[in-house]
Amino acid sequence: MSGKIVKVSGPLVVAEGLEDANISDVVRVGGQRLIGEILTMTGGSAAIQVYEETSGLGPGAAVDTTGSPLSVELGPGLLENIYDGIQRPLVEVRERTGHTIARGVDVPALNRDKVWEFEATAEIGSRVTGGDVLGTVRETSSVLHKIMVPPGISGTLEKIESGGYTVDKTVAVIKTDAGGTENVTLMQKWPVRIARPYDKKAVPSAPLNSGQRVIDTLFPLAKGGTAAVPGPFGSGKTVVQHQLAKWSDVDIVVYIGCGERGNEMTDVLMEFPELKDPRNGEPLMKRTVLIANTSDMPVAAREASIYTGITIAEYFRDMGYDVAVIADSTSRWAEALREMSGRLEEMPGEEGYPAYLSSRLAQFYERAGCVECLGSDLRRGTLTAIGAVSPPGGDTSEPVSQATMRIVKVFWGLDSSLAYARHFPAINWLNSYSLYLDTLRPWYDATFGVGFMDSRTRAMTILQEESELQEVVKLVGADSLSPPDRLTLETAKMLREDFLQQNAFDELDSYSGYEKQSKLIALILAYGDACREAINRGVTDVEKLFSIEARERFGRAKMIPPGEFEQKYADIERDVKYQISEIIEGGEDA
Ligand code: ADP
Repeated sequence: MSGKIVKVSGPLVVAEGLEDANISDVVRVGGQRLIGEILTMTGGSAAIQVYEETSGLGPGAAVDTTGSPLSVELGPGLLENIYDGIQRPLVEVRERTGHTIARGVDVPALNRDKVWEFEATAEIGSRVTGGDVLGTVRETSSVLHKIMVPPGISGTLEKIESGGYTVDKTVAVIKTDAGGTENVTLMQKWPVRIARPYDKKAVPSAPLNSGQRVIDTLFPLAKGGTAAVPGPFGSGKTVVQHQLAKWSDVDIVVYIGCGERGNEMTDVLMEFPELKDPRNGEPLMKRTVLIANTSDMPVAAREASIYTGITIAEYFRDMGYDVAVIADSTSRWAEALREMSGRLEEMPGEEGYPAYLSSRLAQFYERAGCVECLGSDLRRGTLTAIGAVSPPGGDTSEPVSQATMRIVKVFWGLDSSLAYARHFPAINWLNSYSLYLDTLRPWYDATFGVGFMDSRTRAMTILQEESELQEVVKLVGADSLSPPDRLTLETAKMLREDFLQQNAFDELDSYSGYEKQSKLIALILAYGDACREAINRGVTDVEKLFSIEARERFGRAKMIPPGEFEQKYADIERDVKYQISEIIEGGEDA
C-alpha cells in the first residue's frame, strides 16, 4: 500500500496512508524514489526525513515503505571507500550519474562485481555462534577482513569452502539449532541506529598512542575511550584530527565529515587519499573508511552519517580490531538535528536545539568502548570515539559543547590565543582534561616505571604555577620575583616550547613515540631540578643558570630521531649537571 504526501517542508515530508509502516522504516518518496526515513508516526500519518533534495516534490506524490530500517552493508570493500551519510559510494555514484549526485540513485554500498579471495578457517561440523570467525579476506594490504557469523545465528557449520566470491554469494551454510539453514555471505547488514552486540564491556586499559606529546603525556585518551576537540575556526581542529587519523596506533580509522563548510570537506576528500600510513608506507586509505557530506548534500544526510560511521566502526571492532571514529564536526550534526526538530515543530530546548540533544550525543559516544567481542573465542576490540566541536565564536558555553563535555572523558580544548601565538597544537593545558589518568596509570607504571606519571604530575603543577605567577608578573614585573619563582617560569617555558609545541608538518617532529616523550619531559624536569639545587646552594644569578651552553640544546631535542635521542639526551643531562656544578663551585669559591 502506498501513502500520499500531504506536506513538504525542506527535508521534512509528511505523508498519510502509511498505516502498515513503522517508525525508523526507510521509505521511497515521490516519482524519483528519494530515500527517506520515518521519524514519527501518528496513526497512518508519518513524518519523514528525506536524505535528498526535495525540490519539485509536492502533495499527492506516492510514498512507499521498504519495511526495513536504515541499514548499512558490512563486508569487504568498505575500506578505501568514500560514502555519503547513507552509505552511497560517492565515486561510483559520480561515475554513474555525472558530477553531482542524481536523486534516487540506487548504487549498492559494496561492489557486487568484485571477486574476493575467501580463505575458510572454520571446520565443517563445528559448532558456531554469532561473532565466530569463519574465514578471512585480504581486503587491503593493511587489513585482513574477518568474515564472522552474523549476530543472533548459531548452529552447526554444514558447508564452507575457500575460493573467489562476490559479496552476495554464499560462502558457508549453518544448520541452525531451530532446524533451519542460514546462508552466510561475505556481507551482512545492520540497522545503523542499533548498537552492534558484544559479549562484555571492559574497562579501557591501554592508551591510544597518538604520537602527539600534549595528548599522550598530559591528556591521554584510552583505546575504547571518548574525547572531544572543541575549538574556534583556525585553532587547528583539522590538523589535530588528521594527526590522530594518521598516527594513532589503531587498525582502522572511520572519518566522518558531517558537513563542515563544503570546501573543508573537499579538502579532506582531496587530502586523505594522498596521506601515507607512517607505519608501513601504504596509503592511509587502506585502513580508512571516509563518510563525507559535502555542502551540496541536504542536512538530513548529516544526521544519518554519524550512525553510518559508528556502525561500520563497530563491525571492525567486532573482528577484534582497534578502531577510531573521528567525527567532524558534531556541531554540524547537531545543527541538522535542530533543523529537523524545528520543522517537526517540537518544543525547542536551549538555543533551539531539541531537548533530546544530549541524549542523542550520549548515544553516539556510548557506542565507544573496549569490548570482549561476540563469539566463542576470546577476542578484544576497541572503538575510540573522537568528536570535533565547532562552537560559534569559539564559545564553549553553548549547548553542543556543554552537552559533549558532560559525556566525554577527554577534553582537548583548542585555544585561539595559543593558535594566534603559533603555539601548536593549540591545546590549552589549563582547561583540558583526561579522566583516564587513573585507569591508565597501571599501564604507564608497567611500561615506563612510576617515573612517567610523576613527571606528568610535576609538569602540570609547574604549568599551573606559571599561570599564577604570570598574574603577579603583570602587576609588579618579573624582576621582583624570587629566584625559585623565576626558575618555575623558565621551566614552564621550556615545557611549553621544547615539549608541548609540536609541528605537524615537520617530518621529525610530527610523531613522538612514548619512549621519547617520557625521556624528553624527564630531561626538562632534571634541568629544573639541577637549577633548583644550585639556587638552594646559594646561586642567586639565575640568568647564569639559564644561559649555560647545554641549555641551547633543549630547543632541538624534540627533533632528534629515534635511535639517537637516548644517547643525546643522556649527553645533555650530563653536561647540564657539569655546567651547573661549575656555577655552584664558582659561587662558593667567590
Ligand atoms: P581549524 O580546522 O580549527 O579551522 P586548522 O586545523 O585548519 O584549523 O589549522 C589552521 C592552521 O593552523 C593550519 O593551516 C596550520 O598552519 C596551523 N596548525 C594547526 N595545528 C598545527 C600543528 N600541530 N603544527 C603546525 N601548524 C599547525
